[in-house]
Amino acid sequence: MQGKRQVAVLGSTGSIGVNTLDVIARHPDRFGVYLLAASTSTQAMLEQCLAFRPRYAVMVDELAAQALREAMPGELATEVLAGQEELARLVAAEEIDVVMAAIVGAAGLPSALAAARAGKTLLLANKESLVMGGRLLMQAVRESGAWLLPIDSEHNAIFQCMPVEEGALPSLKGVDKVLLTASGGPFRTWTVDQMRDATPDQACAHPNWSMGRKISVDSASLMNKGLELIEACWLFSLEPDRVEVVVHPQSIIHSMVQYRDGSVLAQMGNPDMRTPIAFGLGWPERLAAGVAPLDLVATARLDFEAPDESRFPCLRLARESVAAGGTAMAVCNAANEVAVQAFLDERIAFMGIPALIESVLDRHGGGPGESLEALMAADAAARRSAEAMIEQGVGS
Ligand code: NDP
Ligand code: MG
Repeated sequence: MQGKRQVAVLGSTGSIGVNTLDVIARHPDRFGVYLLAASTSTQAMLEQCLAFRPRYAVMVDELAAQALREAMPGELATEVLAGQEELARLVAAEEIDVVMAAIVGAAGLPSALAAARAGKTLLLANKESLVMGGRLLMQAVRESGAWLLPIDSEHNAIFQCMPVEEGALPSLKGVDKVLLTASGGPFRTWTVDQMRDATPDQACAHPNWSMGRKISVDSASLMNKGLELIEACWLFSLEPDRVEVVVHPQSIIHSMVQYRDGSVLAQMGNPDMRTPIAFGLGWPERLAAGVAPLDLVATARLDFEAPDESRFPCLRLARESVAAGGTAMAVCNAANEVAVQAFLDERIAFMGIPALIESVLDRHGGGPGESLEALMAADAAARRSAEAMIEQGVGS
């Protein structure tokens, strides 16, 4: 057992969670699974508990926790706990070395923050927690001495291309700007008229990546790139005008760093999240990830184009939120979460997503967002407004 790093996987039943456990299973000598957490997927969690035998399984949903407890075979020593607060308390456990934060949405902030405050190595997939509470999260990382390793493929690429001083976080030494690549999503070549009638299944059919439904819709609206722009600003202490979005449909270059002397460093690979996940788990070593080697001859070409903010207004809305500062980013994120769910439930149209976010931002603007309580309150108010606006027909 000596030397094994104990991992907590938050959002273990999701796309990133499953890929994380896939990488961990390839290195049983290096990693133990101490905690798994999800919301309602009891059956998937039971199977993961049987395979990885964690000390704790947390279901945020109480009923799901009860069902899991009843289904858990007696010979398994896994204790089942319930609720968000219990989860935030447990991630700080001394036994845990590494926390993979892969819950989807603002719901991931309290546990990611708890991991940062406890000084864990925090592998951050949950971009919404940075968008909502970037200042708090980065401050917690600095104060506790936690390691924050970005798992979002673009930010992981940027991390890999930034100058890193021995034992330090990436610095901006000699860096001119960051080139954040975007696939352009399934609607890259669609007209606004075509997008008006887009269905949830069409929005979730991403050309290169297989992901959960929320981030798939975000990729289709380009809000994913907007959230990632904000994420990059917090992670690397960048002003928004030093982050340039470049559409690159093949998703082979995962992002780039442009230096003062004209050099541009790119990180490339097949679009498979196991690469950034293995990078985070192994850092500073490189681990086998089960990812097929990149075949550049088969790829044949790499294309680039500018994003079209008139067809994809979400990118502009994210930019405006970061400029407004304070709680505006939390408001933008919450409005987007409600809008995406309403679109998936076929209550609003695809182009209703930016319309709804813009209306909510107009109403709430931004206030000071210094505490978790202020951010949660802004998040809740934005959600209430978004729901009320949907009822009034905004976005349909
Ligand atoms: P999924 O929808 O596939 O999975 C979400 C996970 O979060 C599930 O385990 C789900 O549990 C859990 N969950 C949902 N709501 C809650 C809640 N309220 N409390 C606790 N757990 C909850 O999402 P992805 O794996 O695609 O994405 C996860 C995060 O990673 C997102 O923030 C996304 O933006 C980010 N990301 C994902 C990428 C990808 O390739 N998928 C790439 C880059 C970033 P249950 O199954 O029980 O509902
Ligand atoms: Mg990404």
